[in-house]
Amino acid sequence: MKIAVFSTESYDREFLTAANVDAGHDLTFYEPRLTAHTCALAAGFPAICAFVNDQLDAQVLPVLAREGVRLVAMRCTGFNNVDLRAAEQLNMIVTRVAAYSPYSVAEHAVALILALDRRLYKAYNRIREGNFSLEGLMGFDLHGRKAGIVGTGKIGAVVARILHGFGCNLLAYDVTENPEVEACEVRYVSKSELLAESDIITLHCPLTPDTCHLIDAEALGRMKRGAMLINTSRGALIDTKAVIRALKSGRLGFLGLDVYEEEADLFYRDLSSRVIQDDVFSRMLTFPNVIITGHQAFFTRNALDAIAQETLHNITLFERGERPSGLITAEKVLA
Ligand code: NAD
Repeated sequence: MKIAVFSTESYDREFLTAANVDAGHDLTFYEPRLTAHTCALAAGFPAICAFVNDQLDAQVLPVLAREGVRLVAMRCTGFNNVDLRAAEQLNMIVTRVAAYSPYSVAEHAVALILALDRRLYKAYNRIREGNFSLEGLMGFDLHGRKAGIVGTGKIGAVVARILHGFGCNLLAYDVTENPEVEACEVRYVSKSELLAESDIITLHCPLTPDTCHLIDAEALGRMKRGAMLINTSRGALIDTKAVIRALKSGRLGFLGLDVYEEEADLFYRDLSSRVIQDDVFSRMLTFPNVIITGHQAFFTRNALDAIAQETLHNITLFERGERPSGLITAEKVLA
């Protein structure tokens, strides 16, 4: 099948091309992000392959449909950037990679926790400058700390296993309990109890209308003074401006982010010779207790290999007229 691949980076080309040796599709790689300005590139392609910051809303999807696109194959787990109702009305099929390597994201979340706790980012720079002072680098033991996991699906469950290994006391909040995490001695509690009791809160739920700004001023007000907040899920789970106020007041002691509400205009591009125009993002960079990575939690060889295989497998099943395993429908998700 002819597929237009948007937001292509060198690694997308590498892994999709390798997976395509067996799949045998006809891939055309486009570097631009899919937007209202670039969607004409999809003309003549029955399928497009898109990523987390591509625009798949009620403005772009009708144009794609007119250009002949029948399948949107997401090469990621999250699909909050896809208007599923609009896709359905246009008879377009949307697929995603339901699971690849939950370890990639879970391990990155824990890397953020450890780097913040032990100030590794400060120590790295200090030692390179010949400054061997320990002032300001004091951390805390993870052993015995209370960690609250919001969302105990595939990624949250792996985080639970890792943090259990560290000796953390685990709390969890989810709309459905996952029996897999029982072995980690996880205690399911209400959202407000998790917020009030946790020293570390890590978010692993999807972005939906229910979870948008899950961490807002009120939630931050309930948290322990000096708590650590980690978000490797989707930027809009937290109200960034409220988080900045909480960092300024000391209510929030540490912040580790891999995602940001307005990341589409920043992430996956080299902007090092430009002036960042996003003042909210720039303000976050000024805090000594904040680490931000640019939506890279998924970025391991294992994950990229699995993502490429599964994305092309979904397309193959669609082409054969079979039900793709990663099919997502508005009914299934929004009901
Ligand atoms: P999953 O579907 O296996 O688990 C999500 C969990 O969230 C489920 O247990 C679900 O019940 C729970 N949930 C749903 N609504 C909730 C709510 N209102 N309150 C509390 N919990 C709720 O998904 P996953 O594979 O574990 O992925 C989790 C998220 O991680 C994805 O939605 C995606 O946004 C993000 N992600 C980020 C990266 C990255 O590179 N940073 C990569 C992959 C996934």
